[in-house]
Amino acid sequence: MTGGLLEIRGVHKSYGLLEALRGVDLTVQPGEVAAIIGPSGSGKSTLLRAINHLEKVDRGFVSLDGELIGYTRHGNTLRELTEREVLRRRTRIGFVFQNFNLFPHLTVLENIVEAPVFAQGRPRAEAEAEARELLARVGLADRADARPRQLSGGQQQRVAIARALALRPAVVLFDEPTSALDPELVGEVLGVIKELAGTGTTLVVVTHEVGFAREIADTVVFMDEGVVVEQGPPDSVLDHPVNPRTKAFLEKVL
Ligand code: ADP
Ligand code: MG
Repeated sequence: MTGGLLEIRGVHKSYGLLEALRGVDLTVQPGEVAAIIGPSGSGKSTLLRAINHLEKVDRGFVSLDGELIGYTRHGNTLRELTEREVLRRRTRIGFVFQNFNLFPHLTVLENIVEAPVFAQGRPRAEAEAEARELLARVGLADRADARPRQLSGGQQQRVAIARALALRPAVVLFDEPTSALDPELVGEVLGVIKELAGTGTTLVVVTHEVGFAREIADTVVFMDEGVVVEQGPPDSVLDHPVNPRTKAFLEKVL
């Protein structure tokens, strides 16, 4: 019993002949902020997608809060979740994508209340009140009625973060949340994530911003070629890496 909120054990995932994940082990404790870094193609997005029921793993398992991703216990055996069950389970996980992925035809407020109302069955009035609080928290209280296209990329990503939080998720996953932004808009999004990191919410953040990883993370996880090569507190992984692959990567990006 290791007691992590998120447990990833021996996870393998191939696309045809390409092994994207080759035995990933990772534990994230409740309230922990884990930052995943690593070269392009190392499997970071695939891992997040496996946690969020967007990819089925070939081997190993992922569990969140004691529940296996993709499966449910049926007496002594496991059976695969139905699509409906996946949708319900997925509402326990917030996911913030590189490209925001807001619904373009809905207003900011409607984007945020959609999942709480339709997937979680919460009363609309309550969901809207909470959405307005979340918008205030990400600095967008006055943009509730705007459409995504009327907002900057940084504002859209802050809406996406509010939308993820509206699920009251057990964990929030970020996949390179600032890599699609113009440089001058990166800071406002990192600021919101940093604020969130200070509130005890469990976060898994894939980022190429190594300085940011250092600032917010309890644990930095370095992935390369489909495995976790090294992990630990920022000052050990980033300042005193022991693995030559970690060293080589950091020399390139720092
Ligand atoms: P990262 O996010 O670290 O850049 P990814 O998880 O996106 O890495 O990709 C890991 C490897 O899997 C890469 O070689 C990528 O080309 C491959 N890959 C990812 N998604 C798919 C897919 N849907 N089909 C085929 N190959 C994929
Ligand atoms: Mg990626």
